[in-house]
Amino acid sequence: MKAQDPVDRRRTFAIISHPDAGKTTLTEKLLLFGGAIQLAGEVRAKANRRQTRSDWMGIERERGISVVTSVMTFEYGDCVYNLLDTPGHEDFSEDTYRTLTAVDSAIMVIDAAKGIEARTRKLFEVCRLRDIPILTFINKLDREIRDPFDLLDEIEKTLALDVAPITWPLGHGRGFAGTFDLQRNIVRRLDRDSEPLHVEGPDDPLIAGLLSPADLAETRDQIALAREALKPFDRKSFLEGHLTPVFFGSALRNFGVRDLIDALADFAPPPHGLEAQSRHVDAHEAKMSGFVFKIQANMDPNHRDRIAFMRVCSGKLKRGMKAKLVRTGKMIALNAPQFFFAQDRQLAEEAYPGDVVGIPNHGTLRIGDTLTEGEDLVFRGVPSFAPEILRRVKIGDAMKAKKLREALGQMAEEGVVQLFLPNDGSGAMVGVVGALQLDVLAERLEAEYGLSVSFETSRFELCRWITAATASDLDQFIRAHASSMAVDLDNAPVFMATSAWDLRYEQDRAPGIVFSDIKDYQ
Ligand code: GDP
Repeated sequence: MKAQDPVDRRRTFAIISHPDAGKTTLTEKLLLFGGAIQLAGEVRAKANRRQTRSDWMGIERERGISVVTSVMTFEYGDCVYNLLDTPGHEDFSEDTYRTLTAVDSAIMVIDAAKGIEARTRKLFEVCRLRDIPILTFINKLDREIRDPFDLLDEIEKTLALDVAPITWPLGHGRGFAGTFDLQRNIVRRLDRDSEPLHVEGPDDPLIAGLLSPADLAETRDQIALAREALKPFDRKSFLEGHLTPVFFGSALRNFGVRDLIDALADFAPPPHGLEAQSRHVDAHEAKMSGFVFKIQANMDPNHRDRIAFMRVCSGKLKRGMKAKLVRTGKMIALNAPQFFFAQDRQLAEEAYPGDVVGIPNHGTLRIGDTLTEGEDLVFRGVPSFAPEILRRVKIGDAMKAKKLREALGQMAEEGVVQLFLPNDGSGAMVGVVGALQLDVLAERLEAEYGLSVSFETSRFELCRWITAATASDLDQFIRAHASSMAVDLDNAPVFMATSAWDLRYEQDRAPGIVFSDIKDYQ
Protein backbone atom coordinates (compact mmCIF):
# COMPACT_ATOMS: atom_id res chain seq x y z
CA MET A 1 0.00 0.00 0.00
CA LYS A 2 1.28 3.44 -0.87
CA ALA A 3 -0.55 6.28 0.70
CA GLN A 4 1.33 9.51 0.74
CA ASP A 5 -1.66 11.69 1.40
CA PRO A 6 -1.45 12.67 5.08
CA VAL A 7 -5.15 12.01 5.61
CA ASP A 8 -5.27 8.67 3.82
CA ARG A 9 -2.30 7.31 5.72
CA ARG A 10 -3.85 7.85 9.12
CA ARG A 11 -5.58 5.15 11.13
CA THR A 12 -7.28 6.22 14.32
CA PHE A 13 -8.52 3.32 16.39
CA ALA A 14 -9.27 1.97 19.85
CA ILE A 15 -9.05 -1.48 21.42
CA ILE A 16 -12.20 -2.80 23.04
CA SER A 17 -12.19 -5.80 25.34
CA HIS A 18 -13.22 -7.24 28.66
CA PRO A 19 -10.64 -6.80 31.43
CA ASP A 20 -7.89 -9.44 31.23
CA ALA A 21 -8.47 -10.36 27.61
CA GLY A 22 -5.08 -8.88 26.74
CA LYS A 23 -5.63 -5.25 25.75
CA THR A 24 -2.58 -3.96 27.56
CA THR A 25 -0.35 -6.70 26.21
CA LEU A 26 -1.56 -6.07 22.68
CA THR A 27 -1.14 -2.30 23.05
CA GLU A 28 2.41 -2.87 24.18
CA LYS A 29 3.17 -5.06 21.17
CA LEU A 30 1.58 -2.65 18.72
CA LEU A 31 3.64 0.20 20.12
CA LEU A 32 6.78 -1.88 19.87
CA PHE A 33 6.15 -2.36 16.18
CA GLY A 34 5.96 1.36 15.77
CA GLY A 35 9.09 1.88 17.83
CA ALA A 36 7.05 4.14 20.08
CA ILE A 37 8.37 2.47 23.19
CA GLN A 38 11.74 0.94 23.74
CA LEU A 39 10.90 -1.77 26.18
CA ALA A 40 7.94 -4.02 26.52
CA GLY A 41 6.74 -3.48 30.04
CA GLU A 42 6.15 0.24 29.96
CA VAL A 43 2.45 -0.11 29.43
CA ARG A 44 2.21 -2.99 31.84
CA ALA A 45 3.87 -1.06 34.62
CA LYS A 46 1.15 1.51 34.26
CA ALA A 47 -1.59 -1.10 34.14
CA ASN A 48 -0.40 -2.78 37.30
CA ARG A 49 -0.44 0.48 39.16
CA ARG A 50 -3.98 1.02 38.08
CA GLN A 51 -5.29 -2.20 39.46
CA THR A 52 -6.89 -1.10 42.69
CA ARG A 53 -9.25 1.73 43.28
CA SER A 54 -7.00 3.73 45.52
CA ASP A 55 -4.09 3.23 43.19
CA TRP A 56 -6.17 4.41 40.35
CA MET A 57 -7.08 7.55 42.25
CA GLY A 58 -3.43 8.10 42.98
CA ILE A 59 -2.69 7.85 39.30
CA GLU A 60 -5.49 10.26 38.55
CA ARG A 61 -3.86 12.68 40.94
CA GLU A 62 -0.64 12.39 39.03
CA ARG A 63 -2.50 13.66 36.03
CA GLY A 64 0.65 13.79 33.95
CA ILE A 65 0.63 10.05 33.57
CA SER A 66 -2.96 9.56 32.56
CA VAL A 67 -2.88 12.47 30.17
CA VAL A 68 0.13 11.04 28.46
CA THR A 69 -1.42 7.64 28.04
CA SER A 70 -4.74 8.80 26.59
CA VAL A 71 -3.51 8.82 23.01
CA MET A 72 -0.62 6.89 21.58
CA THR A 73 0.73 7.77 18.19
CA PHE A 74 3.16 5.64 16.25
CA GLU A 75 4.31 5.20 12.70
CA TYR A 76 4.71 1.87 10.97
CA GLY A 77 5.13 1.16 7.27
CA ASP A 78 3.23 3.80 5.36
CA CYS A 79 0.75 4.63 8.08
CA VAL A 80 0.47 6.85 11.11
CA TYR A 81 -1.52 5.12 13.85
CA ASN A 82 -3.38 6.92 16.59
CA LEU A 83 -4.41 4.49 19.30
CA LEU A 84 -6.93 6.04 21.67
CA ASP A 85 -6.89 4.44 25.08
CA THR A 86 -10.17 3.61 26.70
CA PRO A 87 -9.94 3.79 30.49
CA GLY A 88 -8.41 0.69 31.99
CA HIS A 89 -10.43 0.32 35.17
CA GLU A 90 -13.33 -2.05 35.32
CA ASP A 91 -15.98 0.45 36.11
CA PHE A 92 -17.69 1.76 33.08
CA SER A 93 -17.43 5.45 32.50
CA GLU A 94 -18.64 7.91 29.95
CA ASP A 95 -15.08 8.65 28.92
CA THR A 96 -14.99 5.28 27.25
CA TYR A 97 -18.06 5.95 25.19
CA ARG A 98 -16.86 9.36 24.15
CA THR A 99 -13.45 8.09 23.15
CA LEU A 100 -15.18 5.74 20.76
CA THR A 101 -16.78 8.72 19.00
CA ALA A 102 -13.29 9.84 18.01
CA VAL A 103 -12.06 6.65 16.29
CA ASP A 104 -12.52 5.32 12.78
CA SER A 105 -12.16 1.66 13.66
CA ALA A 106 -11.67 -0.63 16.63
CA ILE A 107 -9.90 -3.87 17.46
CA MET A 108 -12.01 -6.23 19.54
CA VAL A 109 -9.82 -8.50 21.65
CA ILE A 110 -11.39 -11.75 22.77
CA ASP A 111 -9.92 -14.30 25.16
CA ALA A 112 -10.01 -17.58 23.23
CA ALA A 113 -10.99 -19.53 26.34
CA LYS A 114 -13.79 -17.18 27.33
CA GLY A 115 -15.36 -15.80 24.19
CA ILE A 116 -17.56 -12.71 24.28
CA GLU A 117 -17.74 -11.24 27.78
CA ALA A 118 -20.01 -8.59 29.27
CA ARG A 119 -17.88 -5.54 28.77
CA THR A 120 -16.90 -6.49 25.24
CA ARG A 121 -20.55 -6.67 24.36
CA LYS A 122 -21.29 -3.29 25.89
CA LEU A 123 -18.42 -1.60 24.11
CA PHE A 124 -19.37 -3.32 20.90
CA GLU A 125 -22.86 -1.87 21.16
CA VAL A 126 -21.41 1.62 21.29
CA CYS A 127 -19.35 0.87 18.18
CA ARG A 128 -22.42 -0.46 16.46
CA LEU A 129 -24.33 2.73 17.26
CA ARG A 130 -21.80 4.52 15.10
CA ASP A 131 -21.16 1.73 12.57
CA ILE A 132 -17.50 1.63 13.55
CA PRO A 133 -15.73 -1.15 11.63
CA ILE A 134 -14.33 -3.81 13.95
CA LEU A 135 -11.34 -6.09 13.51
CA THR A 136 -11.36 -9.10 15.81
CA PHE A 137 -8.30 -10.56 17.49
CA ILE A 138 -8.86 -13.87 19.23
CA ASN A 139 -6.10 -13.93 21.80
CA LYS A 140 -4.26 -16.44 23.98
CA LEU A 141 -4.06 -19.21 21.41
CA ASP A 142 -1.06 -20.51 23.31
CA ARG A 143 -3.47 -21.68 26.00
CA GLU A 144 -6.31 -24.16 25.91
CA ILE A 145 -9.08 -22.55 23.92
CA ARG A 146 -12.66 -23.10 22.92
CA ASP A 147 -13.39 -24.58 19.54
CA PRO A 148 -12.79 -21.84 16.92
CA PHE A 149 -16.14 -22.50 15.24
CA ASP A 150 -17.82 -22.11 18.60
CA LEU A 151 -16.13 -18.77 19.14
CA LEU A 152 -17.01 -17.51 15.68
CA ASP A 153 -20.57 -18.67 16.12
CA GLU A 154 -20.80 -16.81 19.40
CA ILE A 155 -19.59 -13.57 17.84
CA GLU A 156 -22.08 -13.96 15.03
CA LYS A 157 -25.02 -14.77 17.29
CA THR A 158 -24.48 -12.52 20.29
CA LEU A 159 -23.32 -9.48 18.35
CA ALA A 160 -25.28 -10.06 15.13
CA LEU A 161 -22.04 -9.53 13.26
CA ASP A 162 -20.83 -11.60 10.30
CA VAL A 163 -17.40 -13.14 10.77
CA ALA A 164 -14.76 -13.68 8.13
CA PRO A 165 -11.71 -15.47 9.54
CA ILE A 166 -8.61 -14.30 7.71
CA THR A 167 -6.31 -16.70 9.50
CA TRP A 168 -6.96 -20.10 11.04
CA PRO A 169 -5.10 -21.50 14.03
CA LEU A 170 -2.75 -24.43 13.52
CA GLY A 171 -3.18 -26.38 16.74
CA HIS A 172 -3.89 -24.82 20.10
CA GLY A 173 -2.62 -24.71 23.65
CA ARG A 174 0.75 -26.43 23.94
CA GLY A 175 0.39 -27.63 20.38
CA PHE A 176 -0.24 -24.15 18.96
CA ALA A 177 2.16 -23.82 16.05
CA GLY A 178 0.97 -20.79 14.12
CA THR A 179 -1.71 -19.71 11.70
CA PHE A 180 -2.77 -20.40 8.15
CA ASP A 181 -4.07 -17.59 5.96
CA LEU A 182 -7.25 -19.00 4.45
CA GLN A 183 -7.23 -16.90 1.29
CA ARG A 184 -3.57 -16.41 0.60
CA ASN A 185 -2.21 -19.80 1.69
CA ILE A 186 0.39 -18.27 3.95
CA VAL A 187 1.68 -19.97 7.07
CA ARG A 188 3.01 -18.00 9.99
CA ARG A 189 4.87 -20.00 12.60
CA LEU A 190 4.83 -19.20 16.28
CA ASP A 191 8.07 -17.48 17.27
CA ARG A 192 8.85 -16.86 13.61
CA ASP A 193 6.06 -14.41 13.01
CA SER A 194 8.19 -12.24 10.76
CA GLU A 195 8.93 -15.03 8.27
CA PRO A 196 5.67 -15.95 6.55
CA LEU A 197 5.86 -18.90 4.18
CA HIS A 198 3.76 -19.53 1.09
CA VAL A 199 2.38 -23.04 0.91
CA GLU A 200 0.32 -25.02 -1.58
CA GLY A 201 -2.64 -25.34 0.73
CA PRO A 202 -3.71 -27.07 3.95
CA ASP A 203 -2.22 -30.35 2.69
CA ASP A 204 1.24 -28.87 2.36
CA PRO A 205 3.89 -30.96 4.13
CA LEU A 206 5.10 -27.85 5.94
CA ILE A 207 1.85 -27.80 7.92
CA ALA A 208 2.08 -31.53 8.57
CA GLY A 209 5.51 -30.93 10.02
CA LEU A 210 4.16 -28.43 12.54
CA LEU A 211 1.33 -30.47 14.03
CA SER A 212 0.76 -33.75 15.77
CA PRO A 213 -1.13 -36.28 13.63
CA ALA A 214 -4.34 -35.78 15.59
CA ASP A 215 -4.12 -31.99 15.43
CA LEU A 216 -3.28 -32.16 11.74
CA ALA A 217 -6.37 -34.17 10.84
CA GLU A 218 -8.58 -31.88 12.91
CA THR A 219 -7.03 -28.72 11.49
CA ARG A 220 -7.41 -29.88 7.90
CA ASP A 221 -11.06 -30.66 8.48
CA GLN A 222 -11.58 -27.29 10.11
CA ILE A 223 -9.90 -25.39 7.31
CA ALA A 224 -11.98 -27.19 4.71
CA LEU A 225 -15.13 -26.41 6.63
CA ALA A 226 -14.14 -22.79 7.29
CA ARG A 227 -13.46 -22.22 3.60
CA GLU A 228 -16.72 -23.79 2.63
CA ALA A 229 -19.10 -22.56 5.29
CA LEU A 230 -17.85 -19.13 6.35
CA LYS A 231 -18.13 -15.87 4.50
CA PRO A 232 -15.09 -14.53 2.69
CA PHE A 233 -13.90 -11.11 3.74
CA ASP A 234 -15.86 -8.32 2.12
CA ARG A 235 -14.44 -4.86 2.65
CA LYS A 236 -17.70 -3.05 2.02
CA SER A 237 -19.55 -5.03 4.69
CA PHE A 238 -16.64 -4.49 7.05
CA LEU A 239 -16.64 -0.73 6.50
CA GLU A 240 -20.38 -0.63 7.06
CA GLY A 241 -19.93 -2.43 10.37
CA HIS A 242 -21.70 -5.65 9.34
CA LEU A 243 -18.73 -7.98 9.11
CA THR A 244 -15.55 -8.44 11.10
CA PRO A 245 -12.30 -9.96 9.84
CA VAL A 246 -10.99 -12.37 12.47
CA PHE A 247 -7.37 -13.05 13.37
CA PHE A 248 -6.04 -15.63 15.78
CA GLY A 249 -2.91 -15.06 17.80
CA SER A 250 -1.15 -14.56 21.08
CA ALA A 251 -0.37 -11.05 22.18
CA LEU A 252 1.93 -12.36 24.88
CA ARG A 253 4.00 -14.29 22.35
CA ASN A 254 3.83 -11.34 19.94
CA PHE A 255 2.16 -13.58 17.45
CA GLY A 256 -0.50 -12.44 15.00
CA VAL A 257 0.06 -8.79 15.90
CA ARG A 258 1.74 -8.15 12.56
CA ASP A 259 -1.36 -9.48 10.78
CA LEU A 260 -3.44 -7.10 12.76
CA ILE A 261 -1.34 -4.04 12.07
CA ASP A 262 -1.24 -4.91 8.37
CA ALA A 263 -5.01 -5.30 8.40
CA LEU A 264 -5.39 -1.88 9.96
CA ALA A 265 -3.33 -0.47 7.10
CA ASP A 266 -5.04 -2.47 4.35
CA PHE A 267 -8.65 -2.75 5.49
CA ALA A 268 -9.39 -0.15 8.15
CA PRO A 269 -10.67 3.20 6.94
CA PRO A 270 -8.71 6.42 6.93
CA PRO A 271 -10.33 9.35 8.78
CA HIS A 272 -13.91 9.65 7.72
CA GLY A 273 -15.92 12.78 7.12
CA LEU A 274 -18.31 13.90 9.80
CA GLU A 275 -21.88 15.09 9.96
CA ALA A 276 -22.23 18.60 11.27
CA GLN A 277 -25.68 19.99 11.93
CA SER A 278 -25.65 22.02 8.73
CA ARG A 279 -23.71 19.77 6.34
CA HIS A 280 -21.31 16.90 5.81
CA VAL A 281 -17.68 17.81 6.42
CA ASP A 282 -15.16 15.86 4.36
CA ALA A 283 -11.81 14.99 5.93
CA HIS A 284 -10.02 16.34 2.85
CA GLU A 285 -11.51 19.83 3.05
CA ALA A 286 -8.90 22.57 3.27
CA LYS A 287 -10.24 24.37 6.33
CA MET A 288 -9.51 23.04 9.79
CA SER A 289 -12.28 21.72 11.99
CA GLY A 290 -12.31 19.47 15.02
CA PHE A 291 -14.30 18.46 18.07
CA VAL A 292 -13.47 17.99 21.71
CA PHE A 293 -14.32 14.52 23.03
CA LYS A 294 -12.50 14.45 26.32
CA ILE A 295 -11.29 16.88 28.95
CA GLN A 296 -8.67 16.06 31.48
CA ALA A 297 -7.73 18.23 34.41
CA ASN A 298 -4.08 19.01 34.41
CA MET A 299 -1.51 18.46 37.07
CA ASP A 300 -1.85 21.59 39.12
CA PRO A 301 -5.12 21.66 41.05
CA ASN A 302 -4.62 25.29 42.05
CA HIS A 303 -5.01 26.45 38.50
CA ARG A 304 -7.98 25.24 36.63
CA ASP A 305 -5.96 24.36 33.60
CA ARG A 306 -7.10 21.44 31.62
CA ILE A 307 -6.23 19.55 28.51
CA ALA A 308 -9.02 19.29 25.98
CA PHE A 309 -8.56 16.39 23.59
CA MET A 310 -9.64 17.38 20.14
CA ARG A 311 -9.91 15.16 17.14
CA VAL A 312 -9.03 17.01 13.98
CA CYS A 313 -11.81 16.35 11.44
CA SER A 314 -10.69 18.30 8.38
CA GLY A 315 -7.97 20.61 7.11
CA LYS A 316 -4.69 21.08 8.86
CA LEU A 317 -4.14 22.34 12.36
CA LYS A 318 -1.09 24.54 12.66
CA ARG A 319 0.42 25.67 15.89
CA GLY A 320 -0.33 29.31 16.56
CA MET A 321 -3.42 29.45 14.36
CA LYS A 322 -6.62 31.04 15.61
CA ALA A 323 -9.73 28.95 15.75
CA LYS A 324 -13.32 29.80 16.41
CA LEU A 325 -15.01 28.14 19.34
CA VAL A 326 -18.42 27.82 17.75
CA ARG A 327 -20.39 27.54 21.00
CA THR A 328 -19.35 31.03 22.13
CA GLY A 329 -18.31 32.58 18.82
CA LYS A 330 -14.96 33.57 20.35
CA MET A 331 -11.62 33.08 18.64
CA ILE A 332 -8.96 31.22 20.56
CA ALA A 333 -5.29 30.89 19.72
CA LEU A 334 -3.93 27.37 19.46
CA ASN A 335 -0.53 28.27 20.78
CA ALA A 336 0.42 25.03 22.43
CA PRO A 337 -1.40 22.06 20.93
CA GLN A 338 0.29 18.83 21.99
CA PHE A 339 0.85 15.37 20.65
CA PHE A 340 1.16 12.39 22.92
CA PHE A 341 3.43 9.43 22.63
CA ALA A 342 3.77 6.42 24.84
CA GLN A 343 5.74 8.23 27.51
CA ASP A 344 6.06 11.66 26.18
CA ARG A 345 4.32 14.64 24.78
CA GLN A 346 5.53 17.37 22.53
CA LEU A 347 4.23 20.47 20.85
CA ALA A 348 2.26 19.70 17.74
CA GLU A 349 3.45 21.91 14.90
CA GLU A 350 0.77 20.54 12.63
CA ALA A 351 -1.91 17.92 12.85
CA TYR A 352 -4.12 16.24 10.28
CA PRO A 353 -7.57 14.69 10.25
CA GLY A 354 -7.63 11.65 12.49
CA ASP A 355 -4.97 13.10 14.79
CA VAL A 356 -5.79 13.95 18.35
CA VAL A 357 -4.22 17.01 19.90
CA GLY A 358 -4.33 18.14 23.49
CA ILE A 359 -5.23 21.81 23.89
CA PRO A 360 -4.35 23.35 27.24
CA ASN A 361 -7.02 25.78 28.43
CA HIS A 362 -8.50 27.20 31.61
CA GLY A 363 -12.01 25.89 31.28
CA THR A 364 -12.85 27.58 27.96
CA LEU A 365 -13.33 24.28 26.17
CA ARG A 366 -16.04 21.76 26.92
CA ILE A 367 -16.84 18.27 25.78
CA GLY A 368 -18.65 18.39 22.46
CA ASP A 369 -17.19 21.75 21.45
CA THR A 370 -16.41 22.36 17.80
CA LEU A 371 -13.44 24.45 16.67
CA THR A 372 -13.26 25.78 13.11
CA GLU A 373 -11.50 28.38 11.00
CA GLY A 374 -14.62 30.53 11.15
CA GLU A 375 -17.57 28.51 9.91
CA ASP A 376 -20.39 27.87 12.36
CA LEU A 377 -20.17 24.11 12.21
CA VAL A 378 -21.51 22.00 15.03
CA PHE A 379 -20.55 18.35 15.00
CA ARG A 380 -23.08 15.98 16.33
CA GLY A 381 -22.32 12.80 18.02
CA VAL A 382 -20.36 13.22 21.23
CA PRO A 383 -23.07 11.74 23.35
CA SER A 384 -24.15 11.87 26.95
CA PHE A 385 -25.68 8.72 28.30
CA ALA A 386 -28.49 8.73 30.80
CA PRO A 387 -26.82 7.93 34.11
CA GLU A 388 -27.35 4.57 35.73
CA ILE A 389 -26.84 6.06 39.18
CA LEU A 390 -28.41 9.31 40.44
CA ARG A 391 -27.36 10.84 43.74
CA ARG A 392 -28.03 14.03 45.64
CA VAL A 393 -24.86 15.79 46.75
CA LYS A 394 -24.74 16.73 50.43
CA ILE A 395 -22.32 19.10 52.01
CA GLY A 396 -21.76 19.45 55.74
CA ASP A 397 -21.13 23.19 55.70
CA ALA A 398 -24.17 25.01 54.31
CA MET A 399 -22.10 28.16 53.83
CA LYS A 400 -20.28 26.42 51.04
CA ALA A 401 -23.38 25.65 48.96
CA LYS A 402 -22.54 28.24 46.33
CA LYS A 403 -18.98 27.08 46.00
CA LEU A 404 -20.24 23.52 45.68
CA ARG A 405 -22.57 24.49 42.86
CA GLU A 406 -19.70 26.13 40.99
CA ALA A 407 -17.40 23.18 41.55
CA LEU A 408 -20.04 20.70 40.38
CA GLY A 409 -20.56 22.80 37.26
CA GLN A 410 -16.86 22.63 36.49
CA MET A 411 -16.71 18.89 37.13
CA ALA A 412 -19.69 18.42 34.83
CA GLU A 413 -18.03 20.48 32.12
CA GLU A 414 -15.03 18.20 32.38
CA GLY A 415 -17.32 15.22 32.02
CA VAL A 416 -16.46 13.74 35.43
CA VAL A 417 -20.18 13.51 36.24
CA GLN A 418 -23.42 14.86 34.87
CA LEU A 419 -25.17 17.58 36.81
CA PHE A 420 -28.92 17.93 37.15
CA LEU A 421 -30.55 20.88 38.85
CA PRO A 422 -34.11 20.10 39.97
CA ASN A 423 -36.71 22.67 38.94
CA ASP A 424 -38.06 22.80 42.51
CA GLY A 425 -34.79 24.26 43.74
CA SER A 426 -33.82 21.25 45.85
CA GLY A 427 -30.18 20.19 46.03
CA ALA A 428 -28.12 19.39 42.95
CA MET A 429 -28.14 15.82 41.69
CA VAL A 430 -25.25 14.13 40.00
CA GLY A 431 -25.54 11.26 37.59
CA VAL A 432 -22.88 8.71 36.68
CA VAL A 433 -22.65 5.64 34.52
CA GLY A 434 -20.20 3.81 36.80
CA ALA A 435 -19.96 4.07 40.60
CA LEU A 436 -16.24 4.81 40.49
CA GLN A 437 -17.07 8.21 39.00
CA LEU A 438 -18.65 9.18 42.34
CA ASP A 439 -15.45 8.32 44.22
CA VAL A 440 -13.45 10.34 41.77
CA LEU A 441 -15.84 13.28 42.16
CA ALA A 442 -15.67 13.22 45.97
CA GLU A 443 -11.92 12.91 45.92
CA ARG A 444 -11.48 15.79 43.50
CA LEU A 445 -13.94 18.09 45.29
CA GLU A 446 -11.94 17.54 48.44
CA ALA A 447 -8.51 17.90 46.89
CA GLU A 448 -9.18 20.74 44.50
CA TYR A 449 -11.92 22.76 46.19
CA GLY A 450 -11.62 21.78 49.84
CA LEU A 451 -15.22 20.56 49.80
CA SER A 452 -16.16 17.51 51.72
CA VAL A 453 -19.28 15.91 50.31
CA SER A 454 -21.37 12.81 50.68
CA PHE A 455 -23.95 11.30 48.38
CA GLU A 456 -27.52 10.37 49.20
CA THR A 457 -30.10 8.47 47.31
CA SER A 458 -33.26 10.36 46.52
CA ARG A 459 -36.63 9.09 45.39
CA PHE A 460 -35.43 9.34 41.80
CA GLU A 461 -33.68 6.42 40.18
CA LEU A 462 -33.60 7.22 36.49
CA CYS A 463 -33.69 10.19 34.22
CA ARG A 464 -34.34 10.89 30.56
CA TRP A 465 -33.89 13.90 28.35
CA ILE A 466 -37.21 14.95 26.89
CA THR A 467 -38.15 16.64 23.64
CA ALA A 468 -41.42 17.21 21.83
CA ALA A 469 -42.58 18.25 18.39
CA THR A 470 -43.74 21.64 19.64
CA ALA A 471 -42.56 23.93 22.41
CA SER A 472 -46.05 24.07 23.89
CA ASP A 473 -46.28 20.27 24.19
CA LEU A 474 -42.98 20.29 26.00
CA ASP A 475 -44.01 23.17 28.24
CA GLN A 476 -47.23 21.51 29.16
CA PHE A 477 -45.47 18.30 30.17
CA ILE A 478 -42.88 20.19 32.19
CA ARG A 479 -45.56 22.15 34.06
CA ALA A 480 -47.60 19.03 34.77
CA HIS A 481 -44.51 17.26 36.17
CA ALA A 482 -42.82 20.18 37.91
CA SER A 483 -41.64 18.17 40.89
CA SER A 484 -39.98 15.54 38.69
CA MET A 485 -38.19 17.91 36.35
CA ALA A 486 -34.63 19.13 36.27
CA VAL A 487 -32.28 20.77 33.81
CA ASP A 488 -28.83 19.58 32.80
CA LEU A 489 -25.68 21.64 32.38
CA ASP A 490 -26.96 23.06 29.10
CA ASN A 491 -30.39 23.82 30.50
CA ALA A 492 -31.97 20.95 28.58
CA PRO A 493 -35.07 19.55 30.31
CA VAL A 494 -34.70 16.22 32.06
CA PHE A 495 -37.48 14.07 33.47
CA MET A 496 -36.60 12.12 36.60
CA ALA A 497 -38.45 8.89 37.32
CA THR A 498 -38.73 7.00 40.58
CA SER A 499 -38.53 3.61 38.87
CA ALA A 500 -38.51 1.96 35.47
CA TRP A 501 -42.18 1.32 35.99
CA ASP A 502 -42.85 5.00 36.67
CA LEU A 503 -40.95 5.95 33.52
CA ARG A 504 -42.94 3.55 31.38
CA TYR A 505 -46.17 4.80 32.90
CA GLU A 506 -45.35 8.43 32.03
CA GLN A 507 -44.18 7.44 28.57
CA ASP A 508 -47.46 5.71 27.88
CA ARG A 509 -49.43 8.71 29.08
CA ALA A 510 -47.43 11.24 27.04
CA PRO A 511 -47.09 9.89 23.51
CA GLY A 512 -46.08 13.32 22.19
CA ILE A 513 -42.97 13.41 24.34
CA VAL A 514 -39.75 11.70 23.31
CA PHE A 515 -37.82 10.29 26.28
CA SER A 516 -34.21 9.76 25.35
CA ASP A 517 -31.41 7.99 27.17
CA ILE A 518 -28.74 9.44 24.90
CA LYS A 519 -28.17 13.10 24.33
CA ASP A 520 -25.84 14.36 21.64
CA TYR A 521 -24.02 17.47 22.70
CA GLN A 522 -25.23 20.36 20.62
P1 GDP B 1 -6.14 -6.32 29.87
O1 GDP B 1 -6.79 -6.31 31.22
O2 GDP B 1 -7.11 -6.61 28.78
O3 GDP B 1 -5.30 -5.11 29.58
O4 GDP B 1 -5.19 -7.61 29.86
P2 GDP B 1 -3.62 -7.77 29.99
O5 GDP B 1 -2.94 -7.42 28.72
O6 GDP B 1 -3.17 -7.11 31.24
O7 GDP B 1 -3.55 -9.35 30.13
C1 GDP B 1 -4.15 -10.07 31.18
C2 GDP B 1 -3.34 -11.30 31.49
O8 GDP B 1 -3.36 -12.19 30.39
C3 GDP B 1 -1.88 -11.00 31.77
O9 GDP B 1 -1.45 -11.85 32.78
C4 GDP B 1 -1.20 -11.32 30.47
O10 GDP B 1 0.13 -11.71 30.62
C5 GDP B 1 -2.04 -12.46 29.96
N1 GDP B 1 -2.02 -12.56 28.50
C6 GDP B 1 -2.23 -11.59 27.59
N2 GDP B 1 -2.12 -12.07 26.35
C7 GDP B 1 -1.82 -13.37 26.46
C8 GDP B 1 -1.56 -14.43 25.53
O11 GDP B 1 -1.58 -14.25 24.32
N3 GDP B 1 -1.31 -15.65 26.05
C9 GDP B 1 -1.28 -15.89 27.39
N4 GDP B 1 -1.01 -17.13 27.80
N5 GDP B 1 -1.50 -14.93 28.29
C10 GDP B 1 -1.76 -13.70 27.84
